[in-house]
Amino acid sequence: MSLLIKGGRLIDPSTGRDGLFNVLVQDGKVAAILPQEESISADVVIDAAGCYVVPGLIDLHVHLREPGFEYKETIKTGSMAAARGGYTSICPMPNTKPVIDSPEMVRWLLDKAKEDAVINIWPVGAVTLGQQGKELADIAGMAKAGAVAISEDGKSVMDTKLYKEGMLEAKKAGITVMAHCEDKCLVGQGALNAGPVADRLGVAGIGNDVEDIITARDILLSKSTGCKLHLCHCSTKDSVAMVQAAKADGLCVSAEVCPHHFTLTQDDIPGDDANYKMNPPLRAKADRDALVEGLSEGIMEAISTDHAPHHADEKARGIAKAPFGIVGSETALALTMTYLVHTGKLTPYAMVERMSSRPAQIIGIDRGSLAEGKIADIAIIDPDREYVIDSSDFASLGKNTPFNGYKVRGKAIMTIVGGEIVYEER
Ligand SMILES: [Zn+2]
Repeated sequence: MSLLIKGGRLIDPSTGRDGLFNVLVQDGKVAAILPQEESISADVVIDAAGCYVVPGLIDLHVHLREPGFEYKETIKTGSMAAARGGYTSICPMPNTKPVIDSPEMVRWLLDKAKEDAVINIWPVGAVTLGQQGKELADIAGMAKAGAVAISEDGKSVMDTKLYKEGMLEAKKAGITVMAHCEDKCLVGQGALNAGPVADRLGVAGIGNDVEDIITARDILLSKSTGCKLHLCHCSTKDSVAMVQAAKADGLCVSAEVCPHHFTLTQDDIPGDDANYKMNPPLRAKADRDALVEGLSEGIMEAISTDHAPHHADEKARGIAKAPFGIVGSETALALTMTYLVHTGKLTPYAMVERMSSRPAQIIGIDRGSLAEGKIADIAIIDPDREYVIDSSDFASLGKNTPFNGYKVRGKAIMTIVGGEIVYEER
């Protein structure tokens, strides 16, 4: 079975290619990258004129909710949502029920994904057993079973000594530590960014220091252990400064930013609407601007979604009581294109770096590249497709987004995994 993707603009930072090429896929792999004028026959020909042809997007941070919370999302629906967003690979966080905290659970997830998922699933194991922060999980065993990283996402391991031991284990196993930075003692009942909006709505605030203190700690621990550290969903201006300093210091530190943090601020919260409640929260304008600049300059190397589906009833409880999180798989690309690419803050090439090639390197997987011989995980993106985000149309079971009704420009129109078309715009 062969597939020819014709007439598109191939953007592939792994090879430095950015231009008009035809891409031939054969037996699930990239068989040839041909000059546009060179025609070749194939079983299926896809007209990609006017579109970007890029290595499939890679999301380092999603919540699939299975096992344990299948009413919010399943491996199947979460993977379908990601495919619609142009993603061919996703990393589900381990905070399910039970927690992904053993080689057996990692294997269970991979087996289940093989049956149910339409894209590649790269497991992330917990740092501690049951994410209880008391005892280290079998990190070496999970890495051997296929975990590409460990994370306590949803919280931080507050016991610094234990965390350091976990980092050393991760280093030995050759996997990345993904850090959710939040000082548990400091956050209290915080629901929104500390400031006038939280005050007006009568909810407790989450200061930047809640995140920054643990970010600083984790960077220092990465320095003393030498482990690969990836900072999840950075939301503050000081996190950008710290990542910049860590890199200048030669540390193996990378960081991701989520679309809601580079598009919205606390001032966009219209009232008691829990679709604006996520962790970390929407911050001040100075923070948002620093994140955009960090992404532009390549200090912040990855864009991830922190896709966090919840049931509508849970989100209807209001900001004080609703769980944290919003969905992102089906809006991330459009928001990135609309707010960063079409505004000139990020080139299309840099976007592909942030959303595919760098994420692949951060977790050390052989993806994020359309070099000849690589597995054909591909997204075809129409950069000029304008549409209005309609959450009722999501493949995700979660409809919890603050972006419903937003007019955006840029859309994945086809997603190909291992040479198979898994999503095609109707
Ligand atoms: Zn998190």
